Amino acid sequence: MGQWSSRCQQVHGNSKKGTPELDGEAGRERDRARRTDVDGPTLGKASGRLADEVYDTLLAQLMSLRIEPRSRITIDALARDLGVSQTPIRDALNRMEADGLVVRIPHAGYRIPPQITRSRFEDMLEVRLLLEPAAARRAAERASAEQVAGMRQMLEEMAGLVEGDSHLAYGAFGLRDAAFHDLVAHSAGNRVVREALGRLHTHVHLFRLLYDTQVTYLAMGEHEEVLAAVAARDPDAAAYAMRRHILLSGDRFRRLFDEAEGTDDLPSGA
Ligand SMILES: [Zn+2]
Repeated sequence: MGQWSSRCQQVHGNSKKGTPELDGEAGRERDRARRTDVDGPTLGKASGRLADEVYDTLLAQLMSLRIEPRSRITIDALARDLGVSQTPIRDALNRMEADGLVVRIPHAGYRIPPQITRSRFEDMLEVRLLLEPAAARRAAERASAEQVAGMRQMLEEMAGLVEGDSHLAYGAFGLRDAAFHDLVAHSAGNRVVREALGRLHTHVHLFRLLYDTQVTYLAMGEHEEVLAAVAARDPDAAAYAMRRHILLSGDRFRRLFDEAEGTDDLPSGA
């Protein structure tokens, strides 16, 4: 898979197999869920795994803006570029379409949707504020020692990525950020809340909005506060730290919409 494979590994850092950005229990569970929920009966195991890799690679490229919003992708071209057969690519794209990450164009492949609109961004933020502080509160009550260790490991990996000043490191940071939030939700023990948050694809949308290393740098300290409160088994502090992180993150990205107001740089609402 040559060039693609090395790109894939760059984005995913030190992991090599399966859905590498989602290390730990959360990742494995999602992995399993994905395969049982989504793969059709015609797909063999190897093809399912390949489809996972294609999905994750495309996701990473989407986040790091290696694939630009509104650009077109075709199964043929991807099969050629990635050196894999059409089946796993078709499966990965079907799944991405279901997740709202690509749009199918009849007889012409797929399109990467435009960036998130301001109104959808605000709606997403509102849902996060309803669910994530509550999830962090529960995580402080319920997280296992392994889950806390998993969160700590994710933050350590993210700290390493903050040093890397590149779009790829930025995209990889976004994937870890998503995995961290997913692990907090998983540790809270409410499957429905976790699924609802997962469907928002928050980090894909946010990290596609801009490339700004301040975003990763500032998020680090906020994540540390969430982890410290969960590890200290302090539900109030965990809820507060998560709320604060989401509000501050919201401010960082909202600036973009403010700046773009009146220009065509970003969609201003829908
Ligand atoms: Zn975060």
